[in-house]
Amino acid sequence: MTAPFDAIDVIRAKRDGQLLGPEQIRWILGAYTAGAVPDEQMSALLMAVFFRGMSGEELSVWTRAMIDSGERKDLSALGRPTADKHSTGGVGDKITLPLAPLVAACGVAVPQLSGRGLGHTGGTLDKLESIAGWRADVHEEDYLRQLREVGAVVCAAGADLAPADKKLYALRDVTGTVESIPLIASSIMSKKIAEGAGALVLDVKTGSGAFMKDADGAHALARTMVGLGTDAGVRTVALVTAMDRPLGRSAGNAVEVAEAVEVLAGGGPADVVELTLALAREMLAGAGREDVDPAGALADGRAMDVWRRMIAAQGGDPDAPLPRPAEKHVVTAPATGTLTRLDAYAVGVAAWRLGAGRARKEDPVSAAAGVTWTAGVGDQVRAGEPLLELHTDEAERIPRALQALEGAIGVDTADRPLPLILERIV
Ligand code: URA
Repeated sequence: MTAPFDAIDVIRAKRDGQLLGPEQIRWILGAYTAGAVPDEQMSALLMAVFFRGMSGEELSVWTRAMIDSGERKDLSALGRPTADKHSTGGVGDKITLPLAPLVAACGVAVPQLSGRGLGHTGGTLDKLESIAGWRADVHEEDYLRQLREVGAVVCAAGADLAPADKKLYALRDVTGTVESIPLIASSIMSKKIAEGAGALVLDVKTGSGAFMKDADGAHALARTMVGLGTDAGVRTVALVTAMDRPLGRSAGNAVEVAEAVEVLAGGGPADVVELTLALAREMLAGAGREDVDPAGALADGRAMDVWRRMIAAQGGDPDAPLPRPAEKHVVTAPATGTLTRLDAYAVGVAAWRLGAGRARKEDPVSAAAGVTWTAGVGDQVRAGEPLLELHTDEAERIPRALQALEGAIGVDTADRPLPLILERIV
């Protein structure tokens, strides 16, 4: 059968700033996913989109076509409201770990399909895999059973979730077309909408450790994603939050699990607790349960109970000791005064170089690698006292991690840290 369109015509139209029609968009995404349009033609189209952007109508059809490349889950049989959260990625962002069981403990089911880390940002699945026995892959029937019985699942996405995005994302990664608002928004939202939750909260990061370095870009991305979610019938809210410094007191894998467990035990760093509760309130409100205060479930151990059941349901031992690094290296505070800067990107790169992250999708990660710090931005530090601790399995990784941290720490400088929550977009 002859194709209804010619890929070259679609590329030329976008290149020349014309609007693509719904049929053209549906055809080219379908044909690309099926292997009938080759990577070189899709690369050219992605680059044209990168420079020309997409209209609201084009983006909505593009996103819908990505969703329709796979299966959109129907969770209505669960018989209770569902809500999910997506973060655009940051350093020390372990919020999913306490958040999913917390929201489940408040009566709203959390189906969370998560990813792995790439580059300087960590991945939730890599963090959870530092727990002995825990498995990221969950079969469809077990997924629904766990959602019903435990209330929360954090696992890897199956092959049928927006397969067009899997191919497109890999291609964007090697063609310099990742940093495009319509392409990022459609990539994230196609997966999140296909996941089937009734409400969605987006944590859009801004600052050196984020995709979107400046607040205007983060605002535009958040607005675009909220629009796509709302159009698709998902109650969607976005918070734009600070990623100029890392979250909490740790970045890596096992170190972040340990911090999440502290939060679930009623302690933990104030910023992690604040953001966890803010996102939980949004998820509960989106699911129609604004009457429930999540702070109570964190304080009285109900969230911890769900965490333990959620980990055990996926083969993990919540009581097993977490992996410890073979080597540690302490970095001391350079001066006495207020810590005014701890650069998120630098800390993320240091954790990555220590072995916590990967450069290519197929690389392994070290569970024990990472960075911890004793003071956050705004806290007092004393010259010569320990500020950062580098954890690694291989001592030879330490010099390059230290190099990443050069200039990352500021004491009593003119830096003005961003407020933790900058904006709420509905
Ligand atoms: N995360 C995604 O899933 N897609 C993007 O394009 C960027 C971040």
